[in-house]
Amino acid sequence: MKLPETMKALVLMGPDHQELKTVPVPKAGPQEVLIQVESCAVCSTDVALIHKAFPGQPPYGVHITGHEYSGIVVALGDTVDEFAIGDRVAVEAHNGCGRCRNCRLGDYTSCLNYGNTKKGHRANGFTTPGGNAQYVVNHINTVHRIPDSVSFDVASLVTNLGCALYGYETMGGYIAGQNVLVIGPGPLGMASVAAAKALGANRIFLSGTRASRLAIGKALGADRLIATADEDPLEVVMKETGGIGVDYAIEVSGSKAGLDLSIKALKRNGKMLLLGIPHEPVPIDLEDMSLNDKDIFAIRGESRANVGRAVSLLANGKVNLAPLVTHTFPITKFEEAYRTFNQRIDGAMKVIIKPQQE
Ligand SMILES: [Zn+2]
Ligand SMILES: [Zn+2]
Repeated sequence: MKLPETMKALVLMGPDHQELKTVPVPKAGPQEVLIQVESCAVCSTDVALIHKAFPGQPPYGVHITGHEYSGIVVALGDTVDEFAIGDRVAVEAHNGCGRCRNCRLGDYTSCLNYGNTKKGHRANGFTTPGGNAQYVVNHINTVHRIPDSVSFDVASLVTNLGCALYGYETMGGYIAGQNVLVIGPGPLGMASVAAAKALGANRIFLSGTRASRLAIGKALGADRLIATADEDPLEVVMKETGGIGVDYAIEVSGSKAGLDLSIKALKRNGKMLLLGIPHEPVPIDLEDMSLNDKDIFAIRGESRANVGRAVSLLANGKVNLAPLVTHTFPITKFEEAYRTFNQRIDGAMKVIIKPQQE
């Protein structure tokens, strides 16, 4: 296959300033593949790092954003026989160094050499070039083959499902037969609902402020939608669990109200997962947690091969993330794409950039 020398890419030039540039097509190293990117989803983490640089981020004028993407393998590194040219693939963002204690234990999103590219760590879109480009290089450990039944747009969202599954694994969540409350109907909240459904939850509550977003949650498997403008979510959960509370509360809003609710709505000995990121210190009721033997877990990313599990759920039709895809834009219209995402125009949930389209 004859590859071009240059490609279009979104390069971060400064805070809140990306430009569509022509840059060289990267080359795959011995353990890497070159992917022709078909879909790259905008994530709120992209918006955060476009606004304010993340630790370890490459300098302005160089960094290519985007960590949720999918595409076609178009070139193989010297040692790669795990993939073939033409494979349709989804990716996960983090490749651990493989040599630190956490990586050796499988916790590669907590790599102790985070950002150290010399030691082999990569976090595409964060510390290494991402998928808002026509081509991108990925270590094979971060690449997953997808069947024709999974579209590129849906495949680009697989990390969201991987994060939710990693969260359930970290909590020791068996889920089957248990009651789950998800707070915050954004993409990660939706993926948490879909994962809980696929894992056999008894009853899934989804609470949030926007009715249009809650409605999408219904399509993904939520049993009870709670619009906080109309109902008190704590009252609803307590009433509908016989006054006991839920086994698992998944906090995805990052808000004080959400954190407070997630702890109060837990049954005695329940477990809470922090998936949303509170950007400021938040006071929480530790007395309630101690006296009632409640646990709180926090995770970062999609570790312990959970993206592989997520791909399996998509490939086998156990989870359908298609309702999350609300908008697509060619890469030339990236500004409109980000505006649509940021201002939630037309009920925007997941906005996808298509690097191969003009
Ligand atoms: Zn993301
Ligand atoms: Zn490591």
